[in-house]
Amino acid sequence: MPDPARNTLAIVGAGPIGLEAAIAGLDLGFDVHVFERGEVGSHPLAWGHVRMFTPWRMNLGPRSLEHLRRAGWVAPDPEAFPSGLEYAEGYLHPLARLPGLSGRVHTHAQVVHLGRRGTLKGDWIGDPRRREFPFRLLVRDPGGRESFLHACSLIDASGVYGQPNWAGDGGIPARGELYLAPQLGYHPDDVLGLKRERYAGRRTLVIGGGASGATTVTNLAALAEQAPGTAVAWATRETADTLCLPVADDPLPGRRALYERARALARGTHAAVVHIGGMRVEGFEFNSATHRYRVTLLIGEQPRVEEVDEVLVNTGFGPDDSLYRELQVHECYATRAPMKLAAALLAGGGADCLATPAFGVETLSNPEPDFYIVGHKSYGRSSNFLLETGFKQVDEVLGKLAKDQRVGAGV
Ligand SMILES: Cc1cc2nc3c(=O)[nH]c(=O)nc-3n(C[C@H](O)[C@H](O)[C@H](O)COP(=O)(O)OP(=O)(O)OC[C@H]3O[C@@H](n4cnc5c(N)ncnc54)[C@H](O)[C@@H]3O)c2cc1C
Repeated sequence: MPDPARNTLAIVGAGPIGLEAAIAGLDLGFDVHVFERGEVGSHPLAWGHVRMFTPWRMNLGPRSLEHLRRAGWVAPDPEAFPSGLEYAEGYLHPLARLPGLSGRVHTHAQVVHLGRRGTLKGDWIGDPRRREFPFRLLVRDPGGRESFLHACSLIDASGVYGQPNWAGDGGIPARGELYLAPQLGYHPDDVLGLKRERYAGRRTLVIGGGASGATTVTNLAALAEQAPGTAVAWATRETADTLCLPVADDPLPGRRALYERARALARGTHAAVVHIGGMRVEGFEFNSATHRYRVTLLIGEQPRVEEVDEVLVNTGFGPDDSLYRELQVHECYATRAPMKLAAALLAGGGADCLATPAFGVETLSNPEPDFYIVGHKSYGRSSNFLLETGFKQVDEVLGKLAKDQRVGAGV
């Protein structure tokens, strides 16, 4: 089999960062192919009912915007806040349809494994000569048919939304959780819209004190005002005093309002919402006669049992590192992000996402040459990622790849 050309670039994931990388790659003379497991923008589509905290002007990749404008696309009001659905349909879909990307974005093409042809993970340790062996992607279509594709550069922009964290204490599944997981919810459900019937007039346990949990609980509280009998038990590791703490001089009004509302609900201002702070989740049971769950929580060593009709686990997301198990990637043992970037982020002491810079291409590099993890996945389990940071990462990574591969403008 002949070697692929030096300018071949494979990208995993057609989210906003994968597509910005594709456009930047085209600009620099790469032969780009994007492999996407679902639809273009399938993650923002999945949280389509959630309104973004950042306005349009912060959510558009500079290179993508330039290409779209040239094609006659009219940008939305830069100060408006799109929902996930508006973002995917109004921006990502037209972007993927641009003539330059035609035939280069392969949807329903899941990348199952990544390696290098003709060498193993343990060979040529941290040696740039690994780039003599092209990347090898095992790609599967919805019918289960598998093919191999090869490229000299590889970008993983596959996000984290597909891998929700478990509810149980210590980050591992609670008793019964593995078995019941298929019938529990692990994403911020559209409780006021598409999934309304499931939650109206019923008691739901929401687990998790981050932005997703807060969004779900505030929406369920709104539903309780329309549908009598709707009730929420909100279980968080944080206490009511430490939950959704305000960001000093928060410039994002949507986030400020959500956190204020969530803190008020946790303090008991709504009759339909009970907050259970400082808890760990111990076990789930499902009674098939009553169709209700019994969930055992621990507060200190004291068990507390909640009986509910539905359970929504909103405990965050993490990267799928099984994809690059055969590549030489140095992962952070705390966040599972690429080590150097993780260290830079941890040194920042969990600063607010708006205050977090892109730390430069060096922090994104791996022992594996020409392989980069960008976008939300580059933050591992940290939820602090912002699109603006991802667009900067793309710029830096593509510039470096073009230089290292002697491609186009970077030569
Ligand atoms: C509810 C929510 C609200 C958010 N709001 C904001 C906001 O207001 N502002 C902001 O800046 N950020 C926000 N974020 C954070 C972040 O910007 C988004 O998660 C964004 O979608 C990340 O873009 P991405 O391109 O890195 O990954 P994603 O958008 O997650 O895209 C990854 C893509 O890779 C695909 N994929 C996954 N695995 C494979 C595989 N094995 N093979 C092929 N394809 C694969 C997925 O199907 C997906 O389409 C929000 C996140 C969430 C969850």
